[in-house]
Amino acid sequence: MGLLDDIYQDLILEHYRSPRQHGALQGEGVVSQEGVNPSCGDELTLYLRCGAGGLDVGFVGEGCAISQASASLMASAIKGKDAGHAAALSAGFQRLIRGEEPGVDLGDLQALAGIAKLPARVKCAVLPWKTLDEALARLGVDVR
Ligand code: ZN
Repeated sequence: MGLLDDIYQDLILEHYRSPRQHGALQGEGVVSQEGVNPSCGDELTLYLRCGAGGLDVGFVGEGCAISQASASLMASAIKGKDAGHAAALSAGFQRLIRGEEPGVDLGDLQALAGIAKLPARVKCAVLPWKTLDEALARLGVDVR
């Protein structure tokens, strides 16, 4: 029970119920990237645009609470940031989920740290970030 309590923290449930940046972006310069996690059935389409004010981001998707909350937390974290910062957050988050030191300040994203102890859910939590990496690569950003 303790582990579930740790993972389904209020912040995660809150993002699942009221996702941030939810919806498609349209217009010039928008890159859309689909991601799928077949092991759980999670689906995600991420929309990204890199402008003078930093990244604009939106997403639509269906899936478990972890995947959708992770997408919402990610969108909140990268909105308005430059693309290089978003790539660094992605690398740091994926280290966190592997149980390693993130090496960057992850802020609210730390709410998902407990996923590292549940290998079956790792793909759910990482799906939005893998999708982000692909979208950033298409925008020409160097993703590690
Ligand atoms: Zn899932």
